[in-house]
Amino acid sequence: MQVPAPFEYQRAGSVDEAIALLARSGGDARLVAGGHSLLPMMKLRLARPETLVDINGLSDLEYVKVDGDEIAIGAMTRHVGVLESAVLAEHYRIFAEAERVIADPLVRNRGTVGGSLCQADPSEDLSAVFAALKGRAVIRSASGTRSVDLRAFHLGPYETVVGDAEIVVEVRVPIRPHTGSAYEKVERRAGDWSVAAAGAFVQLRGDTIDDVGIGMTAVGAAHFTCEEAEDSLRGGPVSPEAIDEAARICGQRCNPSADQRGPVDYKRHLVSVLVARALTRSVARARGEAA
Ligand SMILES: Cc1cc2nc3c(=O)[nH]c(=O)nc-3n(C[C@H](O)[C@H](O)[C@H](O)COP(=O)(O)OP(=O)(O)OC[C@H]3O[C@@H](n4cnc5c(N)ncnc54)[C@H](O)[C@@H]3O)c2cc1C
Repeated sequence: MQVPAPFEYQRAGSVDEAIALLARSGGDARLVAGGHSLLPMMKLRLARPETLVDINGLSDLEYVKVDGDEIAIGAMTRHVGVLESAVLAEHYRIFAEAERVIADPLVRNRGTVGGSLCQADPSEDLSAVFAALKGRAVIRSASGTRSVDLRAFHLGPYETVVGDAEIVVEVRVPIRPHTGSAYEKVERRAGDWSVAAAGAFVQLRGDTIDDVGIGMTAVGAAHFTCEEAEDSLRGGPVSPEAIDEAARICGQRCNPSADQRGPVDYKRHLVSVLVARALTRSVARARGEAA
């Protein structure tokens, strides 16, 4: 049986208290939210925090709401809260499509938005969703609040810009009119991590692509996206050829690893097919068509 190394357990009653507990431990403490990533790592002794700061009492960080011209999602919102949110269903169907294929109900009932982003697993689905939507993370510390573009949030696998005594409190995405979005994932069996996955939004002005976002996961895409592909579409007319070209660029520019889920060429091809499908369905939804 695998058991974690000994650790001290603290339960935070507020964001300020969580930050103070982290600061007091001088880098040896970790927050625990859903625990679905951290606890397995502790059992394998890949993580050995001296103190665990439990933030499950911070129910004020569990919400999805419209705030001005953005949607604000609290960091302690569980996957199931994202899946079932009427606000997200109205503006961005990409969320429910991604959440439906993240793990299983057990994980979705506990795992959180903040934990998913901060774990920085290179196969994380929500990282691709937020990269596609050009969201930003709101991070608090004792010295105040800062906001970081999600495309600058991940420094690499399992590494983010969040400091030792900081906590992600919220993630925000802009509300865009005339927009459709979609998510496409291939997994080897139900509930598994992606072989490859891609999400997109497309904002239309008539038949012109006004703005577009592409997110990819499990294929080594820098910052879970491909701005060159987005640039090839933005400002141009909607056409299958333009979508295919953008998808081709995505397949070329990503950097997948060969593993038990497949060889490199297969993953490049797969993700380009998924990008094309996500873009095509996003366009249809932006036009108000069934997709
Ligand atoms: C069997 C299984 C299958 C899974 N399949 C998928 C899948 O298909 N797709 C997918 O995307 N994910 C998958 N996951 C991961 C799942 O989404 C987890 O919920 C997620 O990775 C971590 O969220 P958590 O709340 O459990 O974080 P935790 O495990 O509690 O924390 C993870 C890390 O984030 C830090 N942290 C947590 N919250 C904050 C915060 N607010 N601010 C700063 N740091 C914070 C912690 O200190 C820790 O370092 C799977 C997990 C399991 C167990």
